[in-house]
Amino acid sequence: MNLLSLIKGHATFAHGGVHPQEHKEETAHLPIRRLPFASKLVVPLSQHKGAPAKPIVKVGEEVVRGEPIAQADGYVSVPMHAPATGRVSAIGLWPTAEGPKAPAIIIDVYDAASQQILYEEELDILHLAPDEIVRYVKEAGLVGLGGAAFPSHVKMLPPTGKSIHTLVVNGCECEPYLTCDHRVMLEHTEALLRGVRIAMRATGAHLALIGVEDNKMDAVRAIREKLKKEESIRVRAVEAKYPQGAEKMLIESLLGEQIPEGGLPVDLGVAVYNVGTLAQMGELLPRGRGLIERVVTVSGAGVERPGNYLVPIGTPVGFLLHEAGVDAGANRVILGGPMMGMTVASLDVPITKGVSGVVVSAPEESIRGDRKVFPCIKCSRCVEACPMRLNPSMMAQLAKMREYQRMESEFHLNQCFECGCCAYVCPANIPLTQYFRIAKAINRERPALAS
Ligand code: SF4
Ligand code: SF4
Repeated sequence: MNLLSLIKGHATFAHGGVHPQEHKEETAHLPIRRLPFASKLVVPLSQHKGAPAKPIVKVGEEVVRGEPIAQADGYVSVPMHAPATGRVSAIGLWPTAEGPKAPAIIIDVYDAASQQILYEEELDILHLAPDEIVRYVKEAGLVGLGGAAFPSHVKMLPPTGKSIHTLVVNGCECEPYLTCDHRVMLEHTEALLRGVRIAMRATGAHLALIGVEDNKMDAVRAIREKLKKEESIRVRAVEAKYPQGAEKMLIESLLGEQIPEGGLPVDLGVAVYNVGTLAQMGELLPRGRGLIERVVTVSGAGVERPGNYLVPIGTPVGFLLHEAGVDAGANRVILGGPMMGMTVASLDVPITKGVSGVVVSAPEESIRGDRKVFPCIKCSRCVEACPMRLNPSMMAQLAKMREYQRMESEFHLNQCFECGCCAYVCPANIPLTQYFRIAKAINRERPALAS
């Protein structure tokens, strides 16, 4: 804990991290608004970690809002549901944020499609056994809405010999610009707490710790107010410091423990869920509904009507930006936050389950990148900023020499979770994170090339 957090009394992780300008004031006070349907919704079959879903509808078929349209293909996979009533016009390849085109179900939405969800089944959540909850969480198509998009049900079942005692709930939202989780904590507090209780029952956790950055004290108060004397769920303010919302950092801040290298939260008896995911769990499960929409922050200097929009999954980014008053053609568009998000090449890319924000820069503004790169001056700022205690400067030198294996074996490259702190502080503008992303990709592919 550093001096500032000692004075403020708010826990934090011990090493590294940065304090980028927050840019949250534009949208943090704006209530969530519902977006109308685009005429065409594009539902990619792979919006999550794991195997893509398999379509169960055909071209020409009519689909009803909320109806399953693709089933999970295996354990680490989730189904997809129709975000609006309409007709399937195609099942084929569509641009994705990651670059290459990927299979998707395209729905032509009926002009008069209503927001009503007819496809649902009421569940008596209080009397479901833990394994039944896990099954319904999977059927709801729930994944980590904080950006990771890892299927939520998988984290509920610890591997043999392990158990979960604590649920860590991530309400940090440490990326600049993003405020969707903040609004969810304020406006959907009951649903969030319902989701926390459901996840506790499914995992067997007897304690839930909700960590919220101390720039959102109104959310801390809102949750405390609803909790009253519920001892097993606690909310704690943590220092506003990027990347506080990374699961390794938040576990350290709240529990004072570090995940061992190559390990997972479950090794410490912990499961980590984002507040947005649990609010959806609390909303959807009692009604037996599937995930068909999410809250997305639209912000940045190029946005006329910034805000937090409730967006149907599959809405093209271009449509969302048009509704938010953006002349998107002239701007740089980032999906997610500016620290870890991805610049999109095509505005046809749809909003998927893991997209928490769309950040747009005006033509003259550079949110990141586009800066002249200089040689390393050995200032060690990147080393001080790295929350994983890595040596980014040394790894960058090795990356230039294509010594990718050495980066991994001697400098713990795989511990890097691409938070961007090192690149953010580097006075030489060296694109360190990009080097590490490429190095990891090559190390993953090399054995395949050799065999
Ligand atoms: S991107 Fe990787 S190396 Fe750089 S600060 Fe983050 S964890 Fe450390
Ligand atoms: S911050 Fe940049 S210039 Fe300084 S040591 Fe690291 S890589 Fe070199």
